Amino acid sequence: MPLPDGKTFALAVTVDFDAQAAWLAKGKNDPATMARGEFGAEVGVPRLLDIFDRYGIPTTWGIPGHSIMTWPDRCKDVLAQGHEICAHGVYHENLNDMPEPIERKLMTRQIEQHLDILGTRPRGYRAPSGTMSYNTMEILEDFGFDWHSSLSGRDFEPYYPREIKEINLHGATVFGRPYRVLEFPTSWFLEDWVAFEYVGGYSMGLSSTDVVLQRWNDSLEYGLKYVTPGVMTLVLHPQSIGRPHHMMMLDRFLEHVTSLPDLWIARLSDIFDAWTTE
Ligand SMILES: [Zn+2]
Repeated sequence: MPLPDGKTFALAVTVDFDAQAAWLAKGKNDPATMARGEFGAEVGVPRLLDIFDRYGIPTTWGIPGHSIMTWPDRCKDVLAQGHEICAHGVYHENLNDMPEPIERKLMTRQIEQHLDILGTRPRGYRAPSGTMSYNTMEILEDFGFDWHSSLSGRDFEPYYPREIKEINLHGATVFGRPYRVLEFPTSWFLEDWVAFEYVGGYSMGLSSTDVVLQRWNDSLEYGLKYVTPGVMTLVLHPQSIGRPHHMMMLDRFLEHVTSLPDLWIARLSDIFDAWTTE
């Protein structure tokens, strides 16, 4: 698992361009909520592309089919700037209780959308809102995905998640084989949405940027000191991080991380290629 040029730790900056799909999947489609998604596409995405360009950072974008179909040119801008796009559902669907045949149909559909509109086949998958069924990992294997990124069974160490064969309340959980899809772990601590977005009924958001920036910096410092080689995967959402005061925080974060000589900032598929090289 060599990282290039003597680097000891990798940082993957990832962006979930959910736009309106994030809300549609939750059954919210009123005009005010749709406008929040539109802000992400029309304002957040160009601001992110601009700041990544300024710092020369290649990133990984998870884009649902709905965003690809609604804002194809924004998605093409992402690719044109050297970033990669991974699969992130058709309409940001919740997979927890999804019947397997429907989940397979939706996987086929989203890959078609990537190929038809963008001309690229996604190598990775990020489960929408981190939801998964007990079929998801096997479906990812069958569709030839290299990697997945939404579980939190580790923090900085990519790993092959194991099948859960039995859950026994009065006994032990029984694990099965490891899946052949490499997991790049994430966590709610390393993303912007729950910290910042106010969503009536389930998320207070509105956190201080000082608190969030400290959390991200401390996480990275720990990884660089104690978990090498390792990977930290940060998750951003254009409609959240794209707000001006959040962009100021991101600017300070990127200024710091691009000054760290041991850190490799890369796309997840490039980290996958390095990590899986013997
Ligand atoms: Zn998402």
